[in-house]
Amino acid sequence: MRTIRMLAVVDPELCTGCTICDRVCPTLAIVTDRKAHLAAVEADRCSGCPACEQRCPEGAIHMVVREKPFDIGVQVLPGDRERVDALCRAARFHPEQLVCYCTGTRADEAAAAILQGAHTPEEISLRTGIRTGCTVECLQPMLRLLDAAGVRAEPPKGGWQWYGRTVTAWDIPESVKRRYAERGFYFDEDIEILERVVNAPSQEK
Ligand code: SF4
Ligand code: SF4
Repeated sequence: MRTIRMLAVVDPELCTGCTICDRVCPTLAIVTDRKAHLAAVEADRCSGCPACEQRCPEGAIHMVVREKPFDIGVQVLPGDRERVDALCRAARFHPEQLVCYCTGTRADEAAAAILQGAHTPEEISLRTGIRTGCTVECLQPMLRLLDAAGVRAEPPKGGWQWYGRTVTAWDIPESVKRRYAERGFYFDEDIEILERVVNAPSQEK
């Protein structure tokens, strides 16, 4: 759950239409009209993050306080708890684990968003607020959850601010584990500990 209080506004006098802002927006809230050399923000999609303002080379975007702040967030639907938890655990997350530290979003909220039809990181971001803080850590969990749900996500608009799935402890090949075991890395033991965390009972009743 996140309260959206800010909105990005483009100054048409300064905007050159370079498209940087629409490539870095985590919710695809900006579209640049290349002919008009002008970016436009779709207010309903803007989460006020403010990645565009920070990256605009012309200083053409500024953040304003919204007249009407609104909340975004996804609830686990009644009857969906089992499926949500199963999806989290298939992606090797405990359902109550934070997957976006900036917004305090848990794995079960992102999983619920996927089960309710969010099939890209941008859609999950739009519904939950995830990836509207530092934008660094939280793409991975989204890709892992989408993978576990059988959804293959592709980077939008050329992949700015996008990086593919990185390996987890579970992906390490046996040959690599054997080689590094001699140097003091014990991946199987690490996996055992991580599995205990992922499969621990939930605290919520
Ligand atoms: S980054 Fe700035 S100059 Fe470039 S399109 Fe966006 S608002 Fe315009
Ligand atoms: S969500 Fe962030 S990057 Fe996108 S328009 Fe709003 S402030 Fe700019």
